[in-house]
Amino acid sequence: MTDKKITQGEWSNRESGANSSVFGGARKPGNSGRLVAVSNRTPLDADARAGGLAVALWDAIARSQGLWIGWSGEINSSENRVRTENSDGIDFAVMDLTQDQHKGYYLDYANSVLWPLFHNRLDLVRFNNRAFKTYREVNDAFADLIKIHAKKDDFVWVHDYHFMLLAKYLRGASWDGRLGFFLHIPFPAPEVFRACPQHRELAEALCHFDILGFQSKKDVKNFIRYVEEEFKGKRVMDEHVRVGGRTLIVRHCPIGLNAQDMAYTATLPPAKKTGARIRQALGKRRLILGVDRLDYSKGLPQRFEAVGQMFRKFPHARENVSFTQIAPPSRKSVKEYSDLRHQLDGLCGRINGDFAELDWTPIRYHTRSYEREELAGIYREAHVALITPLADGMNLVAKEFVAAQDSEDPGVLILSQFAGAAEQMKEALIVNPHDTEAVANTIVQALDMSLEERKTRWKALWDGINQQDINWWRKRFMEGDVVDMQKEKMRA
Ligand code: UDP
Repeated sequence: MTDKKITQGEWSNRESGANSSVFGGARKPGNSGRLVAVSNRTPLDADARAGGLAVALWDAIARSQGLWIGWSGEINSSENRVRTENSDGIDFAVMDLTQDQHKGYYLDYANSVLWPLFHNRLDLVRFNNRAFKTYREVNDAFADLIKIHAKKDDFVWVHDYHFMLLAKYLRGASWDGRLGFFLHIPFPAPEVFRACPQHRELAEALCHFDILGFQSKKDVKNFIRYVEEEFKGKRVMDEHVRVGGRTLIVRHCPIGLNAQDMAYTATLPPAKKTGARIRQALGKRRLILGVDRLDYSKGLPQRFEAVGQMFRKFPHARENVSFTQIAPPSRKSVKEYSDLRHQLDGLCGRINGDFAELDWTPIRYHTRSYEREELAGIYREAHVALITPLADGMNLVAKEFVAAQDSEDPGVLILSQFAGAAEQMKEALIVNPHDTEAVANTIVQALDMSLEERKTRWKALWDGINQQDINWWRKRFMEGDVVDMQKEKMRA
């Protein structure tokens, strides 16, 4: 494992060398070879979500007869046991983690340092040098696994903040194959990132990839500003950054979903059945809906406060609407998450205590998860979706809500300005989730919106998510399709 400390100036001035210059000229990620995906959880792990990402990568991996590498989801007492298997035409190589690795790499570093740091919650970060050592160790072990299973003409596509060091370790072992990285969560402002004691090591390691993909233009800007300030990096062309003697592509590629499939799912009997159950429970009232993992990045306390404010300020709304929040718990063992649960229990109890009637519960809050087919029916029944994260890489729920609507009577999307999706979904009602009063007013604006305006806004949103769907995203990352980029510039 390479463990050399790099001081400012030294690395940024280093020109050429064994690992230098990969992408500046002819070579593009999609040219040849197989696609090898690397992600912490893989679809082999029954607990991992079989979401749009899995579908998008599955097709591409299968077509290239490629491979998926990741954590097996198993915790093994002492060793990194590796299992290889073929599932539905895809080869997998998955590795167990030891108890110590699971704690250090996953719980203490990925979940307790990188997640809050990248979501702008420095107050919740628990910096931990020991956990970082384990993060290094696990990244190094996965680099070894890649070296064994990938071939030099493969394109290795690494996903997310669990594996930020992989390219550095592979390059250190003379790997000069193509390496790409997509960050699913936001990249923080340099001022926030610098609070992390390991910021230089993490960012320098990222620069050993050939291509870095980010969800939003803001993330791209943050990353480029960081490498300019910290490593004297230089933007040499639109998407190209010269840093540390290498040229890498830094690309904005917002993730999408299989919009057509979600639209279709929302019309199928399981969705209709779920929709009918809610309709019955709501009676004459309209549904305001929130759907989020129970996570402090999602702005749930602020959202509950805004709904309470709306009922206080607009008493007529009490006759007309109910708010339902679906919030399946995640990371239950982490204290911040159980604190959040208690906070929401208290807020929900207070608001319901203040406003409930004998036959009406203002806020219904479910901490269970729903299947995709059920969610499709719930989305379609909602008059307003209230999606107000404080920080979010993209927010797929916002896109799913739009996809599931009835084009003749669509619901209204209220979306936080801090969700990556807000850059693309400009026809939503965009709000600052910290501004309780503005959010309360916007809910009423959404409830009062004319059918004509709802249809116009929805159509524009639908066209956007349908055009920039999950396959568009994959192609954009893999091929650098200049035509699409030009179109997007014209849209912006
Ligand atoms: N989701 C689900 N069941 C639920 C709640 C959410 O399957 O009960 C899914 C939802 O359909 C979406 C994903 O969880 O695809 C959440 O993705 P998003 O990008 O909105 O947020 P993340 O959880 O990745 O931060």
